[in-house]
Amino acid sequence: MEQRKHRRTWFQGWLLVLALLLPALAAAQAPARLEPGRTQLELGPYTRYFHDQAGTLQAGDAWEQAAAGGFVPLPDTGAAFGFQPGAYWFHLSLHNLDPAQPHWLLVQDYPLSDRLDLYLRYPDGRVVHRGGGDHLPFNARSVSYRYPNFMLDLPTGAPVEVLLRVQSQSSMQVPLTLYTPAAFIGISRDAQFGIGLYYGILIALFFYNLVLWLALRDASYFWYLFHLSAFGLVLMTLNGLGFEYLWPGSPRLADLSVPLSICLSQIGMQQFARVFLRLPAVWPAGNRISLGVIAFYVVLGIASLWLPYRIATPVAAATVLLSILWILTVTLTAMRRGDRSARLFLLAWGMFLLGTAMFTLLAFGLLPKSFLTVYGVQIGSALEMLLLSVALSYRYAALRNENERIVRRAKVQLESQVLERTAELRTALAELETAHTRLREASRHDALTGLYTRAWFRERFDALREAARLQDQPLSLMMIDLDHFKAINDRHGHLVGDDCLRRCARVIEGILGAQGALVARYGGEEFIAALPGVDVYRARELAEEVCTRLREEPLRTRGPAVTVTASIGVHAVDTGAEHESIATDQALQVVDDALYAAKSGGRDQVRVAGG
Ligand code: GH3
Ligand code: MG
Ligand code: MG
Repeated sequence: MEQRKHRRTWFQGWLLVLALLLPALAAAQAPARLEPGRTQLELGPYTRYFHDQAGTLQAGDAWEQAAAGGFVPLPDTGAAFGFQPGAYWFHLSLHNLDPAQPHWLLVQDYPLSDRLDLYLRYPDGRVVHRGGGDHLPFNARSVSYRYPNFMLDLPTGAPVEVLLRVQSQSSMQVPLTLYTPAAFIGISRDAQFGIGLYYGILIALFFYNLVLWLALRDASYFWYLFHLSAFGLVLMTLNGLGFEYLWPGSPRLADLSVPLSICLSQIGMQQFARVFLRLPAVWPAGNRISLGVIAFYVVLGIASLWLPYRIATPVAAATVLLSILWILTVTLTAMRRGDRSARLFLLAWGMFLLGTAMFTLLAFGLLPKSFLTVYGVQIGSALEMLLLSVALSYRYAALRNENERIVRRAKVQLESQVLERTAELRTALAELETAHTRLREASRHDALTGLYTRAWFRERFDALREAARLQDQPLSLMMIDLDHFKAINDRHGHLVGDDCLRRCARVIEGILGAQGALVARYGGEEFIAALPGVDVYRARELAEEVCTRLREEPLRTRGPAVTVTASIGVHAVDTGAEHESIATDQALQVVDDALYAAKSGGRDQVRVAGG
């Protein structure tokens, strides 16, 4: 069907060339013959036109000019001339050969023309005048339809001459078609269904994304809705539905709605692209240009309230292409900079660009009228809106995945940090434990002699006694006190006294430690030893050995040699005693008494308790 139409356009073109080459043939312009059985006829091939630049020509003069051959056939692109000043006159003859079909509907397949004046000259010389266009209220039309139309009475017999004057500040497009009422009903129903389908898609997308916007509160959804609504408005305006349904009584709004809705849709489109592609972050310089484009449309939109329609509309229409090209540039840049969701975005705008480009070229008279050029914007934009909606969800999913990835990475990082800290804590605890052990160990020892302290001795002694009791082993206790130590200090000084203490400690530890004794410094110059498994006789022998060693080996210190002697008390501990602490105190008291006895006995000797 499409192809046939195309071929027909070519054919028309050749016919027109022929017509130009053969003026005689052209002068004999044949009337359009409405033969029986025909239900519709495109009138382009039968139409001649005249461009009245000043727009001042009267109908009477136009009739004369048409009769004088001042009208020329339509160009190959059909009756599409772009934005033009003045008025266009179209002339043709209609010869109805079908007596069964006296009524025909003349339709201009373009909704935006301002003012139409139709003159019909009947064979009897009678001239009928009818008005149309969107400068008249909508209900002035013969049929309530989005395109201007006139119901014609065409008697059979002789041709009826038609003269149509069109004046408009919008694009001059006057494709005329003649329909029988029945054929028109069929055609308009199909067109209405197509348009309904288109707006159905738009409305479904609108509500789907509205719900998403309300749920997600993502700004890009808002601007998508804005763009979609404004664009829907543009198309309602361009296909005449705005005038039919939204402002049927307002020719002023009919004019204003074109530039205004185009500006709104461009603002929405640019803003949506900025937000969707995160332009401020991705490409700051491009973002500034986008803001400039938006500012331009805001200014143009406001200015179109005062500007003449024939200036505002072409400017708005012409800049749409530039605006879309800019969107493409921005999208490609975002894509190059690694935005994956920009690919779908690009595809969407590509569709739209294609459709709009075809429509715009048609508006400027550079492309012939065909299904694709007339409905290019609808097809392109429906695909665009659909793809953009998909792109939005894709982008949302991508953002969510990115978020999840960040959260996951943070969690892994946190876990490893926790492990690290736990290990550090464990090391610190171990170090603390070691330090604590070392400290406890240190606190068990006397700083000067290195022997155990008295406190530790008491603590250990109970255990030794218990062990001895359980194993039924003897346990001896020995208390050693150096003789006249105060005098040594007095004579040689405290440092020498300290050396003596250290050396005596080594001697005692050397002899008793070898027997498994627990040796401690009990006080200033007093030592105590517990000897598990050593009976009192052996203990006595060992005590004697200590005395002998000290006496016979004078101490070489920093001063003169010093001889130190010791008195020692020895006691066989009763391991069967009931109360531990009392038993310990008693044992210490007993051994102390033995030591006292050794002192009283003349010092430098050993005494066994009870011995
Ligand atoms: P005795 O034969 O009766 O035991 O006479 P003593 O002088 O040894 O006894 P006393 O208890 O009167 O004197 C103990 C002296 O031990 C007093 C103090 O000067 C000395 N002394 C105690 N601890 C230290 C010490 O850590 N270093 C030094 N250099 N002298 C100490
Ligand atoms: Mg003493
Ligand atoms: Mg002493």
